[in-house]
Amino acid sequence: MTQDRIAALEAVAGRVRVCTLCRLSETRTNAVPGAGNPLAEILFIGEGPGFNEDKQGLPFVGQSGKYLEKLLALIGLTRADVFIANVVKCRPPENRDPLPDESSACKPYLDEQEMLIDPFVVVTLGRFSMARYFTNAKITQIHGQPKYEDRRAILPLFHPAAVLRNPGLQDAMAADFRRIPELVAEMKARRQGGASAAAPSGDGSGGDASGKPTQLSLF
Ligand code: SF4
Repeated sequence: MTQDRIAALEAVAGRVRVCTLCRLSETRTNAVPGAGNPLAEILFIGEGPGFNEDKQGLPFVGQSGKYLEKLLALIGLTRADVFIANVVKCRPPENRDPLPDESSACKPYLDEQEMLIDPFVVVTLGRFSMARYFTNAKITQIHGQPKYEDRRAILPLFHPAAVLRNPGLQDAMAADFRRIPELVAEMKARRQGGASAAAPSGDGSGGDASGKPTQLSLF
């Protein structure tokens, strides 16, 4: 049931908000479970919360978030259409990189979110979320080049903050972003035509011809 899926995502968020599995819980103001449409066709994955995200408990609410919203507008979407999550749900102090044991401790939450949302396309933002799907890859070499898994395409993009620091990357970022709608359409067609054309696992609520449920709801 769609409502079951939404409730399961809310349960993940509830566990994240009180999680103490790694040291980042000691310095956070708020954990940032992720936000957006629980039935989104596109899942964006960033690195971790920054200063503003930590204060508000929401992902991508600073300058990077504003830029991400501009990029979404390029393809006719708003953040309410997609789901935005991070590799680690709590802010690393001084915005340092997440440590390997912190990413590992937090991984089951993101795994569960990805399984429940079951997006057609996962867009990784920056090298930490890229590393979840691409081993030993360099973002400068593979950005904009999708990798196909059974039910979804993974599209590695630069992190919006990196593009804001280096405006020379803006054209490449916009071009990469414009690939997203064609990838969604491609994966919809694959699910309809392939062996995995059935409704998303465990749903049983039916759905539209794309294999995604038709009822939409926002957190
Ligand atoms: S970063 Fe993840 S694993 Fe660490 S305390 Fe926060 S929610 Fe828990």
